[in-house]
Amino acid sequence: LKIIKENDRELYESLNSELKRQRQNIELIASENFVSPAVLAVAGTFLTNKYAEGYPGKRYYGGCQCVDIAENFAIERAKKLFGCEHANVQPHSGANANFAVYFAILKPGDTILGMNLSHGGHLTHGSLVNVSGKYFNVIPYGVSENSETIDYNELEKLALEHKPKMIVAGASAYPRTLDFKRFREIADKVNAYLMADIAHIAGLVVAGVHPSPVPYADFVTSTTHKTLRGPRGGMIMCKEKFAKDIDKAVFPGTQGGPLMHIIAAKAAAFNEALKPEFKTYIKQVVLNAKALANRFTKNGIKFVSGGTDTHLMLLNLSDKGITGKELEKLLDEVKITVNKNTIPFETLSPFITSGIRIGTPSVTTRGMKENEMEIIADLITAVINEKEKAFEKVTAKVDVLCKKFPLYENDIIE
Ligand code: PLP
Repeated sequence: LKIIKENDRELYESLNSELKRQRQNIELIASENFVSPAVLAVAGTFLTNKYAEGYPGKRYYGGCQCVDIAENFAIERAKKLFGCEHANVQPHSGANANFAVYFAILKPGDTILGMNLSHGGHLTHGSLVNVSGKYFNVIPYGVSENSETIDYNELEKLALEHKPKMIVAGASAYPRTLDFKRFREIADKVNAYLMADIAHIAGLVVAGVHPSPVPYADFVTSTTHKTLRGPRGGMIMCKEKFAKDIDKAVFPGTQGGPLMHIIAAKAAAFNEALKPEFKTYIKQVVLNAKALANRFTKNGIKFVSGGTDTHLMLLNLSDKGITGKELEKLLDEVKITVNKNTIPFETLSPFITSGIRIGTPSVTTRGMKENEMEIIADLITAVINEKEKAFEKVTAKVDVLCKKFPLYENDIIE
């Protein structure tokens, strides 16, 4: 930051205030995490300068011999982490990864089955505002009204009726284990491809606390920046027989030059995820989510499906006289960061919502454990029940927690 401070004061101020915000807030957005200093450093290297269209050994530019090594590290480490046959580490984001798979396999007008956005699915799984919903005939599936868990019987019925070319398994706001074997059985009944999007649960899959889709899915996509704790980006895994099609769909199909600094940072993050400490970290992420959920239950707060198997949960505020939008804003005031989220069978607009999504990857990276989760659940409950009246005491406690679990030493950042 020193160089920026000297050369571009305005920009420095904005970066520094974001650093301060990250340090002083309790970060509970389920899709965020804090990368290690090593990943942060690699993402900021001179690899940003290099054009490297193509793949290691087959580039359209000279001078790629060094970045080839970094990309090969990322590929080999991804294959080791997930036990997949082929990995493409070039997608700039999770959305790009999904689009590349669609581009490789589908034609406009083809039918796909994707999870309903308001039941926890992602925009790229067929929302009408996304290219996936505009180009394909999307049949949404969802959760059952009673259990609020995926209704696999209904999914099977929809598959038999609509004969999709592809079924997309995966979600952004679903707190329960996904049954990839069942998805495969349903896909096989109608001869559909199965794509699993593990953007949220990739770290849990690596650590063995969520079943892997790799044995079942034709294509597995992911982001690298959520529970996997790498730089912002995407990746695609597939069987060797689809390798060429997938590589072609990423480049030149849907992307240009790869971000070599980010690919190198993915290699660094994958290296960390291969270590036993990562497994310990992810186990704590899930223990923390359970501790948080248990305490919310004790405090009389309901949540979707009544619990969690993963790193996230969805609070259902419909009986609390407060919307997701209002609570998000109130919590922002006391330096607790969450996002509003629709809940299944939502009655309010996506800009208002009856739910709040909460995840534990970031607070666990800071070193917090079950004890702190109980404190955090109590702080959020106080804001739900007492609104502004709780501000003073909650802010003071947030400050104590953040100081006790510091983020990024100064000498790393400067
Ligand atoms: N897929 C799922 C399940 C996600 O939750 C997300 C992001 O939230 C994405 C894809 C898209 O990732 P990105 O924001 O990197 O495009």
